[in-house]
Amino acid sequence: MNILLISANNERMPDPVPPIGIGFIAGAVLKKNHQCKILDMNFISDFKISLLNEIKDFQPSVIGISFRNVDNSAFPAVVSYIEHYKNIVKVCREELPNIPIIAGGPAFSLFPDELYDILKLDYGVVGEGEYVFTDIIESINNGNKMKPGIYSSKNQELDINEFSPAFDLLNIKEYFKQSGSINIQTKRGCNFKCCYCSYPLLEGRKIRFKNPKIAVDEIEYCLNKYSVDYYFFVDNVFNIMKEHSVSICEEILRRGLNIKWTAYVSPAGLDKATLEMYKKAGCASLDFGIDSASFAGLKALSKDFSPLDIKNCSLWCKELGIKFNHSIILAVPGETKETLEESISNIMECNPTAVTGMIGIRVYKNTALSEKLIKEGWIKEKDINTRPVFYIEENVKEYALERATELSKKYKNWVFPGITHKMDPMFFDLLRSRGVKGPLWGLLG
Ligand code: SF4
Repeated sequence: MNILLISANNERMPDPVPPIGIGFIAGAVLKKNHQCKILDMNFISDFKISLLNEIKDFQPSVIGISFRNVDNSAFPAVVSYIEHYKNIVKVCREELPNIPIIAGGPAFSLFPDELYDILKLDYGVVGEGEYVFTDIIESINNGNKMKPGIYSSKNQELDINEFSPAFDLLNIKEYFKQSGSINIQTKRGCNFKCCYCSYPLLEGRKIRFKNPKIAVDEIEYCLNKYSVDYYFFVDNVFNIMKEHSVSICEEILRRGLNIKWTAYVSPAGLDKATLEMYKKAGCASLDFGIDSASFAGLKALSKDFSPLDIKNCSLWCKELGIKFNHSIILAVPGETKETLEESISNIMECNPTAVTGMIGIRVYKNTALSEKLIKEGWIKEKDINTRPVFYIEENVKEYALERATELSKKYKNWVFPGITHKMDPMFFDLLRSRGVKGPLWGLLG
């Protein structure tokens, strides 16, 4: 069968994100000996014309659409992507009325029932799609044993070593040019218990590690074929089991790959020896998802590290010449002016390359935070949906907005995507066209 996959995301700020999720699905489809193509909304100006071209050239039998985010999670400048998603499905229905549409991706997995109804889909896949998506297309191919509806991967133990993204179906050259790195995933799942986080709902709490040799094979493939020499380890937390991350580094060094990379990391359990190994293997920058730097804030968010851990990691990064960003949230549950100031002053002490901040927390279903808020009567379960709701500690809401505005005006390396105007897409394009690689916050320090 000919399977047309559509990556619906077209958010380009701060960078267009290579859709490796749909790349994994394409890899799974090819393994089952079907033909596959990817239409990527990041590079399409007129979706209808592009779809018509694909219908003429490729004649798809099934359409799969990946929905990445429901909104940008940035208060107060919130942008919802639902209308954009509706338009994509509408054009598919108009041009291919008899072709089944299968939806998936993080946004769909977080709000399956709602999006299934709003978008009037045929099939939906919740969670990891490699097995379920291919089961559905096999079923369609063999006479529709699986009825239309929503299917979940949650009981399946997906072996991530079985699959690699179909890099040749993604526009790797253009992504590297426009976003300065290519994404690599070395594990799935997260066993931390941050109270607001939806990632464990998407990938589960059980961590599954990719064999370091296979992960580095993926890097070597993109390096040799597309000359990509900067990578982004997009695992939720690259150092979640630091021994595994060190094995990845050892494999990079063993093969003598001349690359640079960045990753999301946590101060929990991170030590200087591990950071030294990262540096040796090409680590140029790290993004710490600390969320707060006050004792009370970290406790309220159920973070597994202390302000001292944050300071130590920051110091080691400085000593080793690794650029680092602290991602923070102001007005977390229980925040007071004092805890907010404690958080800011601890971060100042760390002297990070950059700080990216959000005001309040986008509330998702089935998290510890949403369950608490429902219990306390702050919100009803039915009101946690695709219309974004933020928990912003009421007593400090105005204060947090004022402080965020002040900080972003005073310090060029403090960025609040919900309120500042430092994110100029034309300037970002200019930087990339001049060959700037890695995260753009790396230029702020
Ligand atoms: S915020 Fe990060 S570390 Fe915490 S649960 Fe989510 S993915 Fe894991």
